[in-house]
Amino acid sequence: TSPVDPWPTPDERAADATLRPGTLSEFEGQPRVVDQLGLVLEAARHRGHTPDHVLLSGPPGLGKTTLAMIIATEMGAPLRITSGPAIQHAGDLAAILSGLTEGEVLFLDEIHRMSRPAEEMLYLAMEDFRVDVVVGKGPGATAIPIEIPPFTLVGATTRAGLLPGPLRDRFGFTAQLDFYEAADLERIVVRSAARLGIEVDDASAAEIARRSRGTPRIANRLLRRVRDYAQVHNGGAVTLELSRGALELYEVDPLGLDRLDRAVLEAICRKFGGGPVGVSTLAISVGEETETIEEVAEPFLVRLGFIMRTPRGRIATPAGWRHIGLVPPDRSGG
Ligand code: ADP
Repeated sequence: TSPVDPWPTPDERAADATLRPGTLSEFEGQPRVVDQLGLVLEAARHRGHTPDHVLLSGPPGLGKTTLAMIIATEMGAPLRITSGPAIQHAGDLAAILSGLTEGEVLFLDEIHRMSRPAEEMLYLAMEDFRVDVVVGKGPGATAIPIEIPPFTLVGATTRAGLLPGPLRDRFGFTAQLDFYEAADLERIVVRSAARLGIEVDDASAAEIARRSRGTPRIANRLLRRVRDYAQVHNGGAVTLELSRGALELYEVDPLGLDRLDRAVLEAICRKFGGGPVGVSTLAISVGEETETIEEVAEPFLVRLGFIMRTPRGRIATPAGWRHIGLVPPDRSGG
């Protein structure tokens, strides 16, 4: 996998346990989300209720799973983790829901990939804390209502727009996670380095942060790669020069673009004259899944102002042309 692939590798899932912030106050960045969520949890504690269902959206690696864990910790509640692709039949969901204990937090990652019947069962569970289990087939089938204890659903999705309206509407609190500021990522790198016993100076931490695509998971990964590189080349001490060397080796450019981001930008400019080009055409031309282009490369390129989404397709901006060393076409005269 690419070093800046925002999805976790199996190793990282294990390492995550040491690197995840455990409480809302340790969670870096995203100040608005942290404040709003803090209020939701505080109010629920006051009333002695379970908090409203929470929908978290945003590109992978920005802290959705971490926030779900924090919600459970802050409420002193158990946490159950599952994902949309794991729930293919309504029965899978019924089994999970009926096994919940009062106040439990259910984290449903990739909620947009749940099957349709499961989704309908979830509506009822979110609203009435009840599931209807259908027994039998054909005209003799009957729905047996089963009550489930009040719980909090934390749903995660890369884009809220992927969810059907009725599902979105059933969340009391919705938060959109955005790419992190470099200063926030720098604090994350420094904290992770301390936890992993890696010595990094401020300049190296800043360099790693700047090249992390605004994504904490990537910041933590690049930190480990830089550590490896420093061990081999310098007996372990991380310096700015070594950090740059490592990041270049892993094909992360100074703005944090990785191979895929650059391939997308290059394709739009070189193969499609700057666009507009449809996302599926683009995906084929760089040999990637459409979903990965839309959920990973595109949000970051849009955020940097290198590409724009238009109804007719994606176009490269003048800044995008220049980033890959090309001269933007003059479109002023027409
Ligand atoms: P997602 O579920 O959105 O893919 P995760 O919650 O798994 O992302 O976060 C990925 C990694 O980034 C975790 O290991 C966590 O340690 C780190 N991380 C995410 N958000 C933060 C944050 N705000 N502060 C510190 N570390 C974070």
